[in-house]
Amino acid sequence: MRKKIVAGNWKCNTNLQEGIELAKAVDTLVAKEAADDVVVVLGVPFTHLSKVVESVNTNRIGVSAQNCAAEAKGAFTGEVSAEMVKSTGAEYVILGHSERREYYGETSETLNKKLALALKNGLTPIYCCGESLEVREAEAQNEFVKKQLEETIFNLPESDFRKLVIAYEPIWAIGTGKTASSEQAQEIHAFIRSTIAAKFGDEVAEETSILYGGSCKPSNAKELFANKDVDGGLIGGAALKAEDFLGIINGF
Ligand code: PEP
Repeated sequence: MRKKIVAGNWKCNTNLQEGIELAKAVDTLVAKEAADDVVVVLGVPFTHLSKVVESVNTNRIGVSAQNCAAEAKGAFTGEVSAEMVKSTGAEYVILGHSERREYYGETSETLNKKLALALKNGLTPIYCCGESLEVREAEAQNEFVKKQLEETIFNLPESDFRKLVIAYEPIWAIGTGKTASSEQAQEIHAFIRSTIAAKFGDEVAEETSILYGGSCKPSNAKELFANKDVDGGLIGGAALKAEDFLGIINGF
C-alpha cells in the first residue's frame, strides 16, 4: 500500500537554534499525537541537517535536504553534494521545487543529474512539479506537468522510479494563501497517476505517493487528504509552527 506522507519544507527560514527547537517541538507532538501510519519528514536547511537528525527520533521522523548538487564532488564552490547530505543521516531530498526552477534556473537537465546522484546515494527524492497561474488559466496544466515528468523522472528505470515521492505543487498556490480546491487537486493527482500507469504500469502507479503542496494548512488538510489520489502534503509556511504541522499530519 502506498504511503501517506506529510513533509515540511522550511525553505530559508530559522537559524540553527530556532530550527533545533522547532524540530524538537515537532518530535514531541508527533510522538504523542500523530497517527503511526503517516510518514513525517522535515525538509530543513543544509546547515541544520545533522543537528536535526540528532534532535528527533529518526525511527519516526525523516529528515530531508531541500536541494543537492548536480555534481558528485569537486570544484563547485558553495555546493552540497548528495553524498554529503546522506552522510548527515538525512534520508530525503526535495528536488525540482518551483522556487529553485524559477530563481536558480534549475532545468530538467540539471534535475536529471541531481536525481541520479540522490538515488545513487540512497536518498529518497521528493520530486516537485506544478504549473504557473498562466498555464492553469490556459487550462494547459495537464500537458505542462506531463512534460515535466517526461523530461525527468520518467527517464528513470522502474526500480529507481519506485523509490520516489512526487509532490504536485501549483505555483499559484505556493505561499499565496490560495489553495487548489479539493476537486482541482484530485483531478490533477489522478491525471499524474494515470500518466505513471501509462509509463510504468498500474502497480507502480498505485504504489507512488503523490503529495499536494500549496497553502495547505490544518483547516484544509482534511478535505485535501480525503481525495483518493492525494497521499499527503508538502508543507511550506505551516511547517514552521509545530502545532500547525501536527494539525496537517492529523488531517488524515
Ligand atoms: C512549498 O513551498 O512547498 C509550499 C507548499 O509552500 P506553502 O505551503 O507555504 O504554500
